[in-house]
Amino acid sequence: MSRIYVDHNSTTPLLPEALAAMQPYLTDQFGNPSSIHRWGRSAHVALEAARTQIAHLLGAFPDEIIFTSGGTEANNLALQGLAEARRSRGRHLILSAIEHLSVLDVGRLLETRGFRVSYLPPDRDGLIDPQQVADACTDETILVSIMAANNEVGTIQPIEAIGRLVKARDILFHVDAVQAAGKLPIDVGRWQADGVSVSAHKLYGPKGAGALYLRRGTSCQPLLAGGHHEQRFRPGTENLPAIVGFGVAAAYAHSHLEQESAHLLPLRAHLERRLLGECSGTALNGHPTRRLANTVNIGFEGCAGETLVMNLDVEGIAASVGAACSSGSIEPSHVQLAMGRTPEQALECVRFSLGRANTIEQMDDVAEALRRILPRVRPARPAASLCEANVRGEAGGAAVVAAS
Ligand SMILES: *Cc1c(COP(=O)(O)O)cnc(C)c1O
Repeated sequence: MSRIYVDHNSTTPLLPEALAAMQPYLTDQFGNPSSIHRWGRSAHVALEAARTQIAHLLGAFPDEIIFTSGGTEANNLALQGLAEARRSRGRHLILSAIEHLSVLDVGRLLETRGFRVSYLPPDRDGLIDPQQVADACTDETILVSIMAANNEVGTIQPIEAIGRLVKARDILFHVDAVQAAGKLPIDVGRWQADGVSVSAHKLYGPKGAGALYLRRGTSCQPLLAGGHHEQRFRPGTENLPAIVGFGVAAAYAHSHLEQESAHLLPLRAHLERRLLGECSGTALNGHPTRRLANTVNIGFEGCAGETLVMNLDVEGIAASVGAACSSGSIEPSHVQLAMGRTPEQALECVRFSLGRANTIEQMDDVAEALRRILPRVRPARPAASLCEANVRGEAGGAAVVAAS
């Protein structure tokens, strides 16, 4: 059975060049970048080379890059660190309601520490209106955090327009760019961002490395105490092998941005056309055009997304119900709910997030698999079957029976 991985927004395979670059730092080149002897110095050189690569990806200066353990930590450092550093100037934050949980949960945490947080609802396509952000700003507002692109539905936010309005009010602006990095051009200057979070394993780098861009001169309270590393913003010996891989993966993604979307857009269009065209009761979630080139989120009326994902898995296809971290729970996606879906509809979504190695034939295989799966998991409806699939007796066998 051929396997098809269409869950790249959860994580991506490691770029072979990144692995090759990491190897020496897992073996001979084991030095601590803070040590002053030659082992340390060569480790330091590698660390700074990676820092420069991440800076290039974002249009930043190398000294504005703080390495972290990943996107989650970068988001925590940005939100907690920037909010606490500005506490005396006000206690109001603005987030979108469709942020990743590593932003939303920090918002909730900050509420327990005396901050007030506004969670802005998007429209039905997942878009935040810049004017809506401006209208939510008060004299008390110290920080706005809006993601560049959503991990579940792929909608791309008008970050530049939001940044302009936020900075005109002298409010700090943070952007979770974990899904945008490596997929869209990023220029922190054009965004007027004070903080931008990125993660290695979402752009074909290794797990356990990420970075926060922090604009020069911005004060930010570290999450941890314990050393001078990363300009004191993030003490602790850096995960050098992962950071080296991160740098190489980021450089590769940066130089292949256009090539990558030229590869992905036709795949996305093909999968979308087949799923929406050949199966009734399907609808696209996310913005029809302002959307990541790799992301297709589909609502399947009358089918639990979880059940579809399990059945796809049996067929060797890896997809996802929205965010990876919400898999295994039966809670409807907060993103779909915020986009105005009912709790039932929010449980009927499947996300297909495409990547470099995917082919057009694989998109056909995914569509064919769903045409087989849908009729057997959809509750029987009198007369009109919801899917026009020609089942040819392939159902049964390895079926995972719908639990709903
Ligand atoms: C995956 C993801 C994160 C978390 O990144 P990790 O490196 O896995 O901690 C944050 N934000 C978004 C939008 C993501 O997709």
